[in-house]
Amino acid sequence: MANAVKGVIAGAKGAPVSVETILVPDPGPGEALVRIQACGVCHTDLHYREGAITNDFPFLLGHEASGIVEKVGPTVTNVAPGDFVILAWRAPCGTCRSCLRGRPWYCFASRNAQQKMTRQDGTPLSAALGIGAFAELALVAAGQAVKVNAAARPEAAGLVGCGIMAGLGAAINTGGVSRGDSVAVIGCGGVGNAAIAGAKLAGAYTIIGVDVDDRKLEWAKQFGATHTINSRHTDPVQAIRDLTGGNGVNVAIEAVGRPETYTQAFYARDHAGTVVLVGVPSPEMKIELPLLEVFGRGGVLKSSWYGDCLPSRDFPMFIDLYLQGRLDLERFVSETITLDKVEEAFHKMERGEVLRSVVVF
Ligand SMILES: [Zn+2]
Ligand SMILES: [Zn+2]
Repeated sequence: MANAVKGVIAGAKGAPVSVETILVPDPGPGEALVRIQACGVCHTDLHYREGAITNDFPFLLGHEASGIVEKVGPTVTNVAPGDFVILAWRAPCGTCRSCLRGRPWYCFASRNAQQKMTRQDGTPLSAALGIGAFAELALVAAGQAVKVNAAARPEAAGLVGCGIMAGLGAAINTGGVSRGDSVAVIGCGGVGNAAIAGAKLAGAYTIIGVDVDDRKLEWAKQFGATHTINSRHTDPVQAIRDLTGGNGVNVAIEAVGRPETYTQAFYARDHAGTVVLVGVPSPEMKIELPLLEVFGRGGVLKSSWYGDCLPSRDFPMFIDLYLQGRLDLERFVSETITLDKVEEAFHKMERGEVLRSVVVF
């Protein structure tokens, strides 16, 4: 049986999104049907709408979500009806060459629901990041539903499903930030500020937030930046060196996804330091660096895709840290909105007015 609910659809490249009635099938084998309680508005949703990811319109948007499991299909054992879950867009298969090498966060065959959600006329919808949670119900692979402590506020918890996890993981999993490290984060939006929060959680000593927007730098301080630099007025590479005894930072995290800011991160780190790219570049971007500098500076250049997270391991832990008062997830929720305000939220996001607008149901 299919369930008719409201969902946010991107019907054509660049066109405003609309709220439509969609059909969500009951779960089949290995699937779970989740009643969505909250879903954050992420840049990736906007990228889908702009046709910057694939051309498989129409898209059902939304992917930073939490909710309650409504029904599960046959063979599902990891969740049961009534569980409070965060949806993940990585659900490792367990059998690909990466999973078999013990690196499930690089899984090549991450699982999604087999059945499609559709328009009322039967047109299949492409679910954003295999989720599609700007809707009252979402059908996902059961492995995408990660059970966490139900005491968490749904608006805050859902954000761990994408952007906040990407930032926390960029610092902790990919960057390996540890006690006493110096860290710079370039770009202090949702992901960058989550990287700052992650660096603080991991025990970093100096945490430098860099942005061109003073409002975002103010947020960075609230999440744990010990210093901030407005790179519109100041050369961030020199300023970061000045703050670290002339040396640069141990870990430089680029959370913008642009060649100029990547170059800043490259030169702002200490010898043998680590650069982490978590900002998402667009296809035409290129970078040119003197190869001798790449060689001579040593260290590590890494990219962080979804914070190299393992959702089943990391989501419950970060939710518990939040419930213990050690990770301020609430601060990422700039506002709560209704389903019909997603288009407006995209514009607020583009203007840098919010860390996250979160749809509540
Ligand atoms: Zn796999
Ligand atoms: Zn996202």
